[in-house]
Amino acid sequence: MKPLQGMRAIVTGAGRGIGRACARRLMSSGASVAVLDVDLAAADEYPQIETESNGVSLLAHAAACDVDTMQIRCDVTQAEQVQSAVDAVVSTWGGLDILVCNAGGGTGPVSGNHASQIDPAALEHVLRLNLYGTVNTCVAAAVPMKQQRTGSIITMSSIDGLRATELGSYAHYGVAKAAVTHYTRYLAQDLGPYGVRVNAVAPGFISTGRLQARYAEEGRQLEAPHAALGRPGQPNEVADVVEFLSSDQARYVTGQVLAVDGGVLGGAY
Ligand code: NAD
Repeated sequence: MKPLQGMRAIVTGAGRGIGRACARRLMSSGASVAVLDVDLAAADEYPQIETESNGVSLLAHAAACDVDTMQIRCDVTQAEQVQSAVDAVVSTWGGLDILVCNAGGGTGPVSGNHASQIDPAALEHVLRLNLYGTVNTCVAAAVPMKQQRTGSIITMSSIDGLRATELGSYAHYGVAKAAVTHYTRYLAQDLGPYGVRVNAVAPGFISTGRLQARYAEEGRQLEAPHAALGRPGQPNEVADVVEFLSSDQARYVTGQVLAVDGGVLGGAY
């Protein structure tokens, strides 16, 4: 028996990167997974970099794992689109056990948007995508989960939402992820009496196509000099933790923020 056998899951932003790795992992563990993304072909943007996860389509992976899947084009900033997607999943599969609110990210160069010089348009964009997108998805998913009196929600924070960066750059993103982190704690208190658990994962430097490209734009390689483990993480290493938090192994874990950062936060930086 696989750890998530028969479970029904939604992963947002699962077209590529960490979300795609999470969708694959949940499928491998026996869950049927609805893949939500504003661009279901998002992985094509980084074909050289994302070859490991792009090699096999999510449809083919679901078939190989003998689980069901749905591919739903959905912009998480639009509450009505999210509601339709959740309704489609619940009416087709009869319920929803796992929600991974992964869709998100920052904008602009990693050395830009210092706290004293935040571009208001950039701040609004990342708040809409990361905070409102997460809230929209959790609000819609909470309804069936409360009725079932069971469920696990995992939000995607970042170490940037837990501590400020050196010299205060990329502040728009850090502020948005801090808001996601604290929303997660509130939601855990709200849904705990219904048997629904809510936790956040806070990745450090994860080697996705998007992040590698962002560093390359600045003539740098993605490295993690401040990580105790001395290297960036892989999307699969975040997916491992998401799988754990989804599973019965974490049945007494809620309201937590788990850093998956190779030891950045534990260090001096
Ligand atoms: P990515 O850009 O590779 O993937 C994000 C996916 O979300 C894409 O498929 C994209 O099409 C989709 N998406 C974007 N806007 C959307 C919207 N409005 N509605 C639905 N889908 C949308 O990013 P990633 O590096 O895999 O990051 C995934 C999550 O992890 C993000 O929330 C990011 O902030 C967080 N994170 C990443 C890192 C890292 O090092 N890569 C570190 C900390 C946190």
